[in-house]
Amino acid sequence: MKLVEVLEKLSNANGVTGREDNVRNLMKKYLKPFVDEIREDKLGNLIGFKKGKNDAPTIMIAAHMDEVGLMIKNIKKKGFLQFTKIGGIDDRILFAQNVIVHTDKGPITGVVGSKPIHIQTEIEKKKVIEADKLFIDIGANNKEEAEKMGVQVGDVVSFDTKFAQLSKDVVLGKAFDDRVGCAVMVETMRRLHDVDCNVYAVGTIQEEVGLRGATIAAFKLEPDIGIALDATVSGDTPGVGEGEAPASMGKGPVLTVADAGLIAHPKVLRLLIDSAKENKIPYQLETGIRGATDAARIALTREGVPSGVLSIAARYIHSPAAILNLDDVEKAVELTVATLENVPKIFLMS
Ligand SMILES: [Zn+2]
Repeated sequence: MKLVEVLEKLSNANGVTGREDNVRNLMKKYLKPFVDEIREDKLGNLIGFKKGKNDAPTIMIAAHMDEVGLMIKNIKKKGFLQFTKIGGIDDRILFAQNVIVHTDKGPITGVVGSKPIHIQTEIEKKKVIEADKLFIDIGANNKEEAEKMGVQVGDVVSFDTKFAQLSKDVVLGKAFDDRVGCAVMVETMRRLHDVDCNVYAVGTIQEEVGLRGATIAAFKLEPDIGIALDATVSGDTPGVGEGEAPASMGKGPVLTVADAGLIAHPKVLRLLIDSAKENKIPYQLETGIRGATDAARIALTREGVPSGVLSIAARYIHSPAAILNLDDVEKAVELTVATLENVPKIFLMS
């Protein structure tokens, strides 16, 4: 399967934090042919392992399988569903979104509703409608009917967005944070042949609520090096000031120097930069973005794991639809492969 098709399938799959099953099943299917072993841990991380020729060092690449979404917290008497947010979502983007409520009886289509603009006061019109005041309308006439449709407190809700190709290189879809990292990981393992280092390719869970899956996976796997493959903010849209978000779509993979959770280990950053230069892969450096990736947790495992982050710049992440450039995805794969091949060069000499 082509890289873009893998990305499409992963983007269309639903895996709100804590309910990553669909994404995990896909990832398992895609990774399995390219690793020596594949398994799940007790909380649901997917762990692929490819043994190195020379057994050392061991590197963990991580891409999170979960996506931000909503969770039902109450069914109102009239059948409307109140919800809470899972992960960082801007209240301003919720109203009028098409959503899917994932019930035990199957998916249900709904829309996020609010008090109509026609009867809002002037003050209300100027204010952001908070998530607490919004509700999901699934067309149920009352609470009993909603329950009969299968809705229960705790059901997760995802955005209903289908992947689309906008131009030759630019695609739109939901959950590119971090299905793009997942796609890069699959394609990297497909292209990786004989390497010296042992590689753990880990699809992590619950990243969006505090990097939880990566924490336990890294503890178990005891890697020598960690690299998170993730999506980051593209600062190339109107209204973003110079220096506010240094990365842009279409300019190659983004290497984190520091974020809110990690200062990239100098050796790992050097490994990434040298690998890019050696292979003439364009790259961008990023710092000053609020937020963190799985690498923040991997780095602090046991006595410490030198770690870094390789990201793809995407517009509108954590919203129902993001946009990215396929050439960045291809370059990110090339850089990840080159980096894995170069690990012994940097980490065995010092
Ligand atoms: Zn992410």
